[in-house]
Amino acid sequence: MEAPEGFRRALEAQSLGKLRIRWSKALSEWQIEERVAKPQTPTKFVSEFDDRTIRFRDGFALLLRIRPGDRMPCKRCKRTVKLAVGEFRESTCGVCGERTKAVYFPLSDMLLEYIRGLDPQRGGYARLQADLNYADGHEKREAAKFRDEIQHGVREEFHYLTGAPRVGYTKDVTWPL
Ligand SMILES: [Zn+2]
Repeated sequence: MEAPEGFRRALEAQSLGKLRIRWSKALSEWQIEERVAKPQTPTKFVSEFDDRTIRFRDGFALLLRIRPGDRMPCKRCKRTVKLAVGEFRESTCGVCGERTKAVYFPLSDMLLEYIRGLDPQRGGYARLQADLNYADGHEKREAAKFRDEIQHGVREEFHYLTGAPRVGYTKDVTWPL
């Protein structure tokens, strides 16, 4: 499944080509991913249901998971849970009280705006842009720090893929990082 072309283009433009949206066949949801590394060559077969290996192969990291509708089964009791719509907050199962961080966001300007709002927290795009264009000493340090951060993320992914997951592995979460 492909996201609407207008949304894909706007996402790519506003993120300077660093973000993409991809349909996860494994989880039946949208995943917004951030380019963090050069594409890799996995040594094993890449299943179209293996999101982590797909990301690793393409050099992307998970940024956000977006459910395609506003309801999903509770992961504990399997009853239907109504998800938060258009905002990032937890939803609670009305039957068993299980909390979930999955959200429903229409693929809209509102979501694009939310993603822009991540910039100040993460500082990623600004640093990348500074790195690409020009840099005085301070900007350069910031860019280097960011590169270290993403390389760390890629290493974590690598450890996962090579069968040596670390305790506390938290890359694949249902929440804006
Ligand atoms: Zn429940």
